[in-house]
Amino acid sequence: MPPRAQARRAEQLALLSELRHRRFTDPRMGELLEALPEPEVRETLGEVAAANVRETARSYRRATCLPSSFVAELTRVCAHAHEAWIEARKNADFAQFAPHLERIVALKREEADRVGFEDERYDALLDVYEPGARTREIAPMLASLRERLVPIVQRVADGTEAQDGAEDGRRWPVEQQKQLCRRVAAAMGFDFEAGRLDESAHPFCSGIDVGDVRLTTRYDERDAAGALFGVMHETGHGLYEQGLDPERFGTPAGEACSTGMHESQSRLWENQIGRSRPFWEHFFPILCATFPQASEGLDLESWVRRINRVRRSLIRVEADEVTYNLHILLRFELERDLLEQRLAVADLPAAWNAKMEAYLGLTPPDDAQGVLQDIHWSFGGFGYFPTYTLGNLYAAQIHDALRAAFPDLDDMLRHGRLLEIRDWLRDKIHRRGMVLRAPALLEEVTGAPPSAEPFLRYIERKVEALA
Ligand code: ZN
Repeated sequence: MPPRAQARRAEQLALLSELRHRRFTDPRMGELLEALPEPEVRETLGEVAAANVRETARSYRRATCLPSSFVAELTRVCAHAHEAWIEARKNADFAQFAPHLERIVALKREEADRVGFEDERYDALLDVYEPGARTREIAPMLASLRERLVPIVQRVADGTEAQDGAEDGRRWPVEQQKQLCRRVAAAMGFDFEAGRLDESAHPFCSGIDVGDVRLTTRYDERDAAGALFGVMHETGHGLYEQGLDPERFGTPAGEACSTGMHESQSRLWENQIGRSRPFWEHFFPILCATFPQASEGLDLESWVRRINRVRRSLIRVEADEVTYNLHILLRFELERDLLEQRLAVADLPAAWNAKMEAYLGLTPPDDAQGVLQDIHWSFGGFGYFPTYTLGNLYAAQIHDALRAAFPDLDDMLRHGRLLEIRDWLRDKIHRRGMVLRAPALLEEVTGAPPSAEPFLRYIERKVEALA
């Protein structure tokens, strides 16, 4: 979109969100929902219909708490804030974004107060992405990650930083990268008749329909791993979207369970599977054949080390598996402080930098590489960040269950047999839609409620194996 279209686009978005909101909050919808929760009515519903009623009632309750004018205002403020954030980041100038962020924080606080919450405002915002989740439940999990991960970073990252050599001069032609990315996505079971893979500055996956799932990535000649792991990640999301039940389209039972559960699917493919040695026993020869020059002098061992490096980094999206959750923890803590007015927007950059120093031992040289790096706050996405970490935790738990279901999983990976994994995930998770909430679904699949333990064990095992 050309920059000068932005003002009109903001008005169009505001109008659309207001119209949509007005339809959904029609009193007739409320009457219908109210007629349903009678116990005798509920008993006649199967689990699918019951879940549809539960989740529609939740959305309705939320939507009726917010007047259409508020929704339009929030949309308008965010549309402008987003443009300001792009400029501010470009200029590494937090002051350009600060007044917009102040308005957003005030509106998000108002939103939480209107919607209502049990313990703290954060609950009301988290609930958008992780239905039913409570801050008091996830905060201890996140804190336990800090306790166990910070020492690992201090120990391991120090050792590996030196041997990194940011630039090794290899050139990975983009055309071949595209071929390999498509090949890996297809091997994972992505249906290109029901989706696409394109390029964009910020990789994403959009699920318009089971039959129309669009992935993007970005290519860099100097490094094939960025696009490749980006594609495995987005394909993990895409398989979830393609695996939803088409018969239930347009209802909660035909939608993904939660943002965290969605992220578990991308992380499982990108990390637990995609960074494993058995996976590369199959794909490394293919990588070498695709890039005969760039892969010169690389062997399987050095490649596996390369893609599992632990490094301190300033940028969340470039972080490895060990440091990633520390980036999230920092944002989670700052968001809570902003909402509870323990922290002023003006003091945010300093607070950000202090936490970066405490958790990762780094200080951003400027705000573009610090507090301005993420898009989320510019669209009002408070409460979103923890879902990345929940995704990592869920993925580790699901990975354990996958191994229990397929004792020969490593052998399957060595032979590039990935479709059985997709089908298992489809059956256990994708088809279930929102029938169960994330913790209940996780328990159904893995036999245990959400916990940070499986993830921490996975990381500790892996760090030891690569030491
Ligand atoms: Zn993702």
